[in-house]
Amino acid sequence: MIRSITQQKPMEEIEVLLNGINRVFIIGCGTCVTLTQTGGIFQVEAMKNSLSEKGKVVTGTTVVPVACDNLTTDILREFEAQLKQADGLLIMTCAFGVQTIARQINKMAVPALNTLFIGKETGAGEYNEVCTQCGACVIGETGGICPVTACHKGLVNGPCGGTNNGKCEIDSNKDCAWTMIYNRLKDLGRLDVMRIYKKPRNHLGEPSPGKFQIPV
Ligand code: SF4
Ligand code: SF4
Repeated sequence: MIRSITQQKPMEEIEVLLNGINRVFIIGCGTCVTLTQTGGIFQVEAMKNSLSEKGKVVTGTTVVPVACDNLTTDILREFEAQLKQADGLLIMTCAFGVQTIARQINKMAVPALNTLFIGKETGAGEYNEVCTQCGACVIGETGGICPVTACHKGLVNGPCGGTNNGKCEIDSNKDCAWTMIYNRLKDLGRLDVMRIYKKPRNHLGEPSPGKFQIPV
């Protein structure tokens, strides 16, 4: 299952972000952050207790089903009175959820989590990064294996000189991404695409904010 992977910010950072916000309404989410245990019912409750101990007034809490869905605004209407009493919102969702809520509720929105990457669940509570949404997908020429996330150096032309018996020179416990790509392409009878030179990635990225429009 693919998820937006998040990690709670250090409490000290959250406290700084909440400076001047004494009455807080806390919002979690029932999807990705519940599975990663960063913004589900239990984490929201723990945050409520922690903030109360630090002298904040928690006017209310809720865990909405899908924070990044526009229906979240309708769900939050149920908490109108508690939201009104709050100076700000502490939002325990991915950045997309924070932005969705911030756009629709006229209160200072403080994220409690850092959004790390899109990840695939590999075991109970374990997620591997599968895509950093680099904006220039190359996996059509790498047998479907993403070198940007799987290679320690993020090389789009590989392997580097350090690959060693199929292991990565940076982490010998890790398979070299480019050896995996070679093996996959070999199995597919398409080693020819290993020879296609890929332009260096544009680390400056696209102009921000990025835009996309479905052609009509
Ligand atoms: S190359 Fe990798 S990081 Fe970039 S879009 Fe494709 S899968 Fe995502
Ligand atoms: S050894 Fe392989 S995975 Fe490691 S940095 Fe070099 S090409 Fe990338």
